[in-house]
Amino acid sequence: MKTTTDCETDRHLDCAQHRIIHPSLLMAKMSWAAGTQCVAKGDHRKSKPGELVYHKGDILTIIDTSMRKGHYKARHNTTGEEGLINSSNVREREALRVDPSLSLMPWFHGKISGPEAVSKLQPPEDGLFLVRESIRHPGDYVLCVSVSGEVIHYRVIYGDNKLTIDNKQYFYNLIDMIEFYSKNKGSIATTLLKPKQKQGTKSAEVELSKSGWLLDITKLTLGESIGEGEFGAVHEGEYMGQRVAVKTIKCDVTAQAFLQETTVMTKLQHKNLVRLLGVILHKGLHIVTELMTKGNLVNFLRTRGRSVVSSVQLLRFALDVCEGMEYLESKKLVHRDLAARNILVSDDNVAKVSDFGLTKVDSKVSDKAKLPVKWTAPEALNKEKFSTKSDVWSYGILLWEIFSYGRQPYPKMSLKEVKDRVDGGYRMEAPEDCPPGVYSLMRLCWEEEPRKRPGFHKLREKLEREMSKLSLGTEAECHEGIGSGSRC
Ligand code: ADP
Repeated sequence: MKTTTDCETDRHLDCAQHRIIHPSLLMAKMSWAAGTQCVAKGDHRKSKPGELVYHKGDILTIIDTSMRKGHYKARHNTTGEEGLINSSNVREREALRVDPSLSLMPWFHGKISGPEAVSKLQPPEDGLFLVRESIRHPGDYVLCVSVSGEVIHYRVIYGDNKLTIDNKQYFYNLIDMIEFYSKNKGSIATTLLKPKQKQGTKSAEVELSKSGWLLDITKLTLGESIGEGEFGAVHEGEYMGQRVAVKTIKCDVTAQAFLQETTVMTKLQHKNLVRLLGVILHKGLHIVTELMTKGNLVNFLRTRGRSVVSSVQLLRFALDVCEGMEYLESKKLVHRDLAARNILVSDDNVAKVSDFGLTKVDSKVSDKAKLPVKWTAPEALNKEKFSTKSDVWSYGILLWEIFSYGRQPYPKMSLKEVKDRVDGGYRMEAPEDCPPGVYSLMRLCWEEEPRKRPGFHKLREKLEREMSKLSLGTEAECHEGIGSGSRC
């Protein structure tokens, strides 16, 4: 997903808000929902029974908001202990600024020569190191380490998708290799003690840790694989008592690209967006999010079908997604890959938008071949004009997927045929038994002119009207299974 606001603008907005907010409103701002992650502003050693002990910089999760004013019950993210905290002693965990200089490999200096590496590792200091790309052997890496006043250059050999220095220890990527030699001397002259940071880069590890987004791998228990994404496997797991999903990205270049987009996720919190809990850096990047036990919406609908999922429930899914998108719209963020496969369903049947901030790492023309043709608006496909209104087009397709119980859009048509016919004005028919009001919404989303399409705010209002019509007519359904009026 791409952001159309830059961080400078965000900062000005924040400052402006601080200037005009009336003090009485500040209290209101302080009311945190359960699940909010806070960072301790100072040490708090237990003084009264029931209070939580913590130190400056510790991360605490709010678990109960029904305490007396200014107090919360919280869980310590590291010790797992629970107790009362005073809200004035903590601050909400801040979003990370989107910063291209943030690097998972700040010690990687790119193509520099041996002598250049030596000059960078001055003054000599045991364990000071960097990694460079060899000039003589392009594509090969060299680990350069300062030891006893000299710099030793270790050639990193690549073969069988693995890296090695000594043909004894093998690594998935450079991050993995540096992690190993930072803890073990192995067959090199010294453990790696201090990275020589490339000028202009900031260590992602340091920044993530400072802002409270770096999670502790020792607190994570990985479970079964629950999905396979384009860039890595997804496992379920548990992090300090909470069920989580963990997406693992092993390729260091991809991980670096994902990191930028993950920072976007730190800014977003909404009940209809899959929530980022934090990241773990270990042999690559692990993105930890809330677990959506019922998987993606396409599979959910296909495996249950018409007899189990009522139209009210379908409309509720449609509204959930619309609300998540309305929130993204309000943040001036464009998803670019809105489709039922990227919507996940929680244990209590709430649909949430996922893969925002993750899929569109790069939007260059070279990526054009990868665009999901059946979901992409014509102006985005033909002229790469992505906007909230191109997301609205995709939302129309997603509505069609929902009301056809997970069918593939434009059934039996090839991608070329879809593109040509849609350009010529063709639009899909209504799915079987689709409420006419919902089909009219799809058609509005598929207006050729982006400005004629409604925004997500308008769409939500229209869907709510549909919902009240449909709920009135289907009250009888509300006593059975998934069609019940409550989220089942
Ligand atoms: P892709 O990279 O192809 O967009 P993802 O890596 O995001 O896909 O996810 C692949 C699959 O893993 C999803 O379709 C879903 O079934 C599962 N999955 C991803 N995230 C979660 C989550 N938070 N909770 C439960 N399942 C998930």
